[in-house]
Amino acid sequence: YRAKAAGGGVAVYDQLLDAVAPEEMSLFGELRTLLDTGDPENQLVLYFQPQIRIADGSVAGVEALVRWRHPTRGLLLPAAFLDMAASRGLEISLTYHLLKVAVAQAARWAAAGNPLAVSVNISPRCLLHDDFLPRIRDAVTDVDLPHGTLQLELTESSVMLEPERARTVLRQVREEGILISVDDFGTGFSSLSQLRQLPADELKIDRSFVQGLARDVDGVVLVRSAIDLGHNLGLSVVAEGVEELEALAVLREMGCDLAQGFALSRPVPADEVPAACARASQAASQHRVPQPHAG
Ligand code: C2E
Ligand code: MG
Ligand code: MG
Ligand code: MG
Repeated sequence: YRAKAAGGGVAVYDQLLDAVAPEEMSLFGELRTLLDTGDPENQLVLYFQPQIRIADGSVAGVEALVRWRHPTRGLLLPAAFLDMAASRGLEISLTYHLLKVAVAQAARWAAAGNPLAVSVNISPRCLLHDDFLPRIRDAVTDVDLPHGTLQLELTESSVMLEPERARTVLRQVREEGILISVDDFGTGFSSLSQLRQLPADELKIDRSFVQGLARDVDGVVLVRSAIDLGHNLGLSVVAEGVEELEALAVLREMGCDLAQGFALSRPVPADEVPAACARASQAASQHRVPQPHAG
């Protein structure tokens, strides 16, 4: 009986090794091949989520979010492969690859007469990568994009890793006409003086503070102070993770500039962007109309 139990234990252990490690290994190998070959089948695609100006419901731009159309596993979200990419050294080449995909899409929209600002997520290690500035410049060289069309999102924690270095690099990025957004704000530990010195254009309040805003009193206090802080630093403020239209009224009253979230639109493929933007804009505008009072 004891031997059987021990055998069972070994079997379970073997199963775990089989189930977890090879799966990650194969995803890694597949991703590396995609990046090495330039992803000829376009398995790595960007979805886009509209960002709406709260004051008037107009479209401010879209955030590009990676999805992997995997041939056997279906549509993979970043959570299924970004950590693997980061721990196995593919994060930087993946980010640069997606930056080019995003710039190409922005250029197509601009050329079609519907220019749309596109925000691209930059993984933490890129900012401190020696090649960062040349790669950013390379991505926008020879592409006809109006200034301010491209925006880079860097997380609060990544810009605070080496604040002085980040300042120098981001200043040069902005000289290229590229805007800087501080993503996931509230989850890092920026000091006021560091934030004040950071060359940035926008602050994105992390969705953990925004979710449930319509109901949660503590959340309201935190979001209000983040909005005021951003405005005092001369930044435009985005609330991400707006899941209920009711939160828009609260955000409007607090003077928040932009909103992004499932209540307005999910991230959608490039060809669905015009329709998604129109729907999001309409949802935000309709919500502005004062509801008739009962009685
Ligand atoms: P993030 O940059 O903070 O992006 C926002 C995430 O929140 C996205 O998840 C988006 O789909 C999700 N989201 C938007 N509105 C709502 C909402 O109302 N409710 C909820 N629950 N979620 C909402 P996603 O696409 O899974 O991306 C997760 C993270 O992966 C991103 O967080 C970003 O850090 C990273 N990421 C995504 N795309 C890229 C990329 O192209 N390059 C790099 N380097 N990182 C990326
Ligand atoms: Mg982002
Ligand atoms: Mg974010
Ligand atoms: Mg976030």
